[in-house]
Amino acid sequence: MVDEASETGFILDVHLGRLAKYLRLCGFDSLFSAFFDDREIIEIAIREGRVILTRDRLLLKSATKAKGYLVKSQYHEEQLREVFEEFGLKRQVRLFSRCIACNTLLEEVRKEDIADRLLADTRTYYNSFRRCPGCDRIYWEGSHYDNMKRSLAPLL
Ligand SMILES: [Zn+2]
Repeated sequence: MVDEASETGFILDVHLGRLAKYLRLCGFDSLFSAFFDDREIIEIAIREGRVILTRDRLLLKSATKAKGYLVKSQYHEEQLREVFEEFGLKRQVRLFSRCIACNTLLEEVRKEDIADRLLADTRTYYNSFRRCPGCDRIYWEGSHYDNMKRSLAPLL
């Protein structure tokens, strides 16, 4: 199901992997897998109340019982702008709350508990860390986020 941290939950087709990462970065529950076929996407969308994001008109046509949005742009920054406008997402953004890789909500973790997994520079310059309970990745501002955050700036 769509978790309660995210008012709007999405499922994205196989061509929208980058968009999925950006939506996760903004805190939105966004299912994506390169292995979902159209039928699975539609089934999951109906079962979990997710909105289908796709650039495939035929997929949306066959998804009569699911909510969907046809993404127009082929560029992820434009795609994100489209989805933000269509669903009024700006006020719901919670940056750095969700794992970019696996969509799980992150939890705070104490620096001393993960210190042995950090490079010396990271240990020196950063104090606030989060861990993904799903895939065990460690996040901190300044890590994977810098470039992504820059391209989000015009939206937030
Ligand atoms: Zn994860």
